[in-house]
Amino acid sequence: MTRIDILTVVPELLESPLNHSIVQRAKNKKLVEIHIHDIREYGKGNYHQVDDYSYGGDAGMILMIEPIYKLITKLKEERNYDEIIYMSPDGEVLNQPIANHLSCKENIMILCGHYKGIDHRIREHLITREISIGDYVLSGGELAAAVLCDSIIRLIPGAISDETSALSDCFQDNLLSAPVYTRPAEFNGWRVPDVLLSGNPKLIAQWQEEQALERTRLLRPHLLDD
Ligand code: SAH
Repeated sequence: MTRIDILTVVPELLESPLNHSIVQRAKNKKLVEIHIHDIREYGKGNYHQVDDYSYGGDAGMILMIEPIYKLITKLKEERNYDEIIYMSPDGEVLNQPIANHLSCKENIMILCGHYKGIDHRIREHLITREISIGDYVLSGGELAAAVLCDSIIRLIPGAISDETSALSDCFQDNLLSAPVYTRPAEFNGWRVPDVLLSGNPKLIAQWQEEQALERTRLLRPHLLDD
């Protein structure tokens, strides 16, 4: 079973994305366990302070080192982590190979930043990997962590009922997917490609391959260079 621990100051933001659909089914099937930890519980003093002003006087609050250190240390005492990931706009940009790689791990910890970010010493001394979900800035790492979790969990064998379904997705073989259709065969005069109605598996497979290659060439040519 894969175990994912997520550290956040806004646990509420993670509720909906990780409690439905394929992720929820994977949890029900005991393929994955997700534990969400509120950094605030480890905050300083009566007010459970977790953020403070930045040295150098820049605007915006920074998540403090102490509460995060306490929480990470406690979790590390309980088990070994394969990766301790910080969600960060300047991290390596998430892609399918990274998701594939992480889906084979047993214990993953994910730290979400908030406000202006986190004390850099956490990144220097406690984090093993930094991942971004794209070149834009979010208000917090929670939605990014949910994206990362979803991309990992759907790849765990058994998470998707049709085992081949995740394998035929975009990027899995460095190609985009062929277009897909369902009934009716004609709507508003818009027809499904004839080949898909032919009942000939060989012709269909050939068409799908051509389409995948053509769409990749058109929309993500760099995938063909790799
Ligand atoms: N001042 C920081 C941004 C802070 S945004 C900077 O310029 O780099 C607040 C938090 O949101 C970050 O700590 C990070 O955890 C998360 N975040 C923002 N954009 C993200 C992205 N593209 N991918 C992953 N996490 C992101």
